[in-house]
Amino acid sequence: MESKDLRDAGLKVTSPRLKVLEILERSEERHLTAEALYRALLDAGEELGLATVYRVLTQFERAGLVTRHNFEGGTAVFELADRTHHDHMVCLDTGDVIEFCDERIEQLQREIADRHGYVIEDHSLVLYVRPKGGAEEKQAAKGGK
Ligand SMILES: [Zn+2]
Repeated sequence: MESKDLRDAGLKVTSPRLKVLEILERSEERHLTAEALYRALLDAGEELGLATVYRVLTQFERAGLVTRHNFEGGTAVFELADRTHHDHMVCLDTGDVIEFCDERIEQLQREIADRHGYVIEDHSLVLYVRPKGGAEEKQAAKGGK
Protein backbone atom coordinates (compact mmCIF):
# COMPACT_ATOMS: atom_id res chain seq x y z
CA MET A 1 0.00 0.00 0.00
CA GLU A 2 1.23 3.42 1.07
CA SER A 3 2.87 5.62 -1.55
CA LYS A 4 0.97 3.90 -4.33
CA ASP A 5 -2.27 4.63 -2.47
CA LEU A 6 -1.40 8.31 -2.34
CA ARG A 7 -0.66 8.44 -6.06
CA ASP A 8 -3.82 6.47 -6.84
CA ALA A 9 -5.74 9.09 -4.87
CA GLY A 10 -4.11 11.83 -6.95
CA LEU A 11 -1.93 13.07 -4.09
CA LYS A 12 1.76 13.78 -4.25
CA VAL A 13 3.80 11.56 -1.97
CA THR A 14 5.05 13.69 0.89
CA SER A 15 6.56 12.64 4.17
CA PRO A 16 3.70 13.93 6.38
CA ARG A 17 1.12 12.20 4.17
CA LEU A 18 3.04 8.93 4.30
CA LYS A 19 3.38 9.11 8.06
CA VAL A 20 -0.31 9.82 8.68
CA LEU A 21 -1.29 7.05 6.26
CA GLU A 22 1.03 4.62 8.01
CA ILE A 23 -0.55 5.31 11.40
CA LEU A 24 -4.06 4.91 9.95
CA GLU A 25 -3.06 1.59 8.40
CA ARG A 26 -1.24 0.21 11.41
CA SER A 27 -3.55 1.34 14.18
CA GLU A 28 -5.60 -1.34 15.90
CA GLU A 29 -8.37 1.19 16.47
CA ARG A 30 -9.76 2.01 13.05
CA HIS A 31 -11.51 5.23 14.10
CA LEU A 32 -9.10 7.91 15.21
CA THR A 33 -9.40 11.55 16.16
CA ALA A 34 -6.84 13.97 14.77
CA GLU A 35 -5.47 14.30 18.31
CA ALA A 36 -5.07 10.53 18.67
CA LEU A 37 -3.23 10.44 15.35
CA TYR A 38 -1.05 13.31 16.46
CA ARG A 39 -0.17 11.46 19.69
CA ALA A 40 0.51 8.21 17.82
CA LEU A 41 2.90 10.10 15.56
CA LEU A 42 4.65 11.58 18.59
CA ASP A 43 4.95 8.10 20.11
CA ALA A 44 6.50 6.92 16.86
CA GLY A 45 9.04 9.73 17.16
CA GLU A 46 7.51 11.83 14.38
CA GLU A 47 7.42 15.57 14.93
CA LEU A 48 4.30 16.54 13.03
CA GLY A 49 2.23 19.50 14.22
CA LEU A 50 -1.47 19.04 14.98
CA ALA A 51 -2.31 21.60 12.26
CA THR A 52 -0.39 19.50 9.74
CA VAL A 53 -2.25 16.37 10.84
CA TYR A 54 -5.56 18.18 10.32
CA ARG A 55 -4.48 19.46 6.92
CA VAL A 56 -3.37 16.01 5.75
CA LEU A 57 -6.61 14.43 7.00
CA THR A 58 -8.66 17.03 5.13
CA GLN A 59 -6.67 16.32 1.96
CA PHE A 60 -7.19 12.58 2.46
CA GLU A 61 -10.90 13.11 2.96
CA ARG A 62 -11.20 15.15 -0.23
CA ALA A 63 -9.26 12.49 -2.12
CA GLY A 64 -11.59 9.78 -0.84
CA LEU A 65 -8.83 8.06 1.10
CA VAL A 66 -10.44 8.51 4.51
CA THR A 67 -13.97 8.97 5.79
CA ARG A 68 -14.73 11.55 8.46
CA HIS A 69 -17.43 10.84 11.01
CA ASN A 70 -18.90 13.65 13.05
CA PHE A 71 -20.40 11.61 15.84
CA GLU A 72 -22.52 13.50 18.34
CA GLY A 73 -20.87 14.79 21.44
CA GLY A 74 -17.36 14.09 20.29
CA THR A 75 -14.66 15.31 17.99
CA ALA A 76 -14.55 14.04 14.43
CA VAL A 77 -13.01 10.62 13.91
CA PHE A 78 -11.33 9.44 10.75
CA GLU A 79 -11.05 5.98 9.26
CA LEU A 80 -9.49 4.61 6.10
CA ALA A 81 -12.07 4.35 3.35
CA ASP A 82 -10.87 0.87 2.43
CA ARG A 83 -13.82 -1.13 3.67
CA THR A 84 -17.23 -1.96 2.35
CA HIS A 85 -20.29 -0.30 3.85
CA HIS A 86 -20.80 -0.59 7.57
CA ASP A 87 -22.65 1.26 10.30
CA HIS A 88 -21.40 2.44 13.65
CA MET A 89 -22.22 2.25 17.33
CA VAL A 90 -20.69 4.83 19.65
CA CYS A 91 -20.41 4.13 23.36
CA LEU A 92 -21.38 7.26 25.28
CA ASP A 93 -19.38 6.15 28.32
CA THR A 94 -16.08 5.32 26.69
CA GLY A 95 -16.28 6.87 23.23
CA ASP A 96 -15.53 3.43 21.75
CA VAL A 97 -16.64 3.04 18.15
CA ILE A 98 -18.01 -0.35 17.12
CA GLU A 99 -18.63 -1.32 13.51
CA PHE A 100 -21.50 -3.48 12.41
CA CYS A 101 -23.50 -4.38 9.35
CA ASP A 102 -26.80 -6.20 9.40
CA GLU A 103 -28.45 -7.23 6.16
CA ARG A 104 -31.92 -7.02 7.79
CA ILE A 105 -31.39 -3.32 8.50
CA GLU A 106 -29.96 -2.72 5.04
CA GLN A 107 -32.94 -4.45 3.43
CA LEU A 108 -35.47 -2.63 5.61
CA GLN A 109 -33.97 0.71 4.66
CA ARG A 110 -34.21 -0.15 0.97
CA GLU A 111 -37.87 -1.10 1.45
CA ILE A 112 -38.66 2.13 3.28
CA ALA A 113 -36.97 4.26 0.63
CA ASP A 114 -38.72 2.26 -2.07
CA ARG A 115 -42.11 2.80 -0.40
CA HIS A 116 -41.46 6.53 -0.65
CA GLY A 117 -40.45 6.23 -4.28
CA TYR A 118 -36.70 6.49 -3.76
CA VAL A 119 -33.56 4.48 -4.19
CA ILE A 120 -30.88 4.77 -1.51
CA GLU A 121 -27.68 6.40 -2.73
CA ASP A 122 -25.93 6.35 0.59
CA HIS A 123 -26.78 6.13 4.25
CA SER A 124 -25.12 6.24 7.60
CA LEU A 125 -26.58 4.85 10.76
CA VAL A 126 -25.14 5.60 14.17
CA LEU A 127 -26.38 4.03 17.39
CA TYR A 128 -25.43 5.83 20.58
CA VAL A 129 -25.13 3.18 23.26
CA ARG A 130 -24.10 2.46 26.82
CA PRO A 131 -22.77 -0.83 28.17
CA LYS A 132 -25.45 -3.19 29.43
CA GLY A 133 -25.86 -3.36 33.18
CA GLY A 134 -25.09 0.33 33.66
CA ALA A 135 -26.58 2.38 36.51
CA GLU A 136 -29.68 3.40 34.55
CA GLU A 137 -30.53 -0.12 33.51
CA LYS A 138 -30.18 -1.39 37.07
CA GLN A 139 -32.49 1.39 38.24
CA ALA A 140 -35.06 0.43 35.61
CA ALA A 141 -34.82 -3.24 36.55
CA LYS A 142 -35.47 -2.44 40.19
CA GLY A 143 -38.45 -0.16 39.46
CA GLY A 144 -39.97 -2.19 36.69
CA LYS A 145 -41.02 -5.81 36.39
ZN1 LIG B 1 -16.02 2.37 10.59
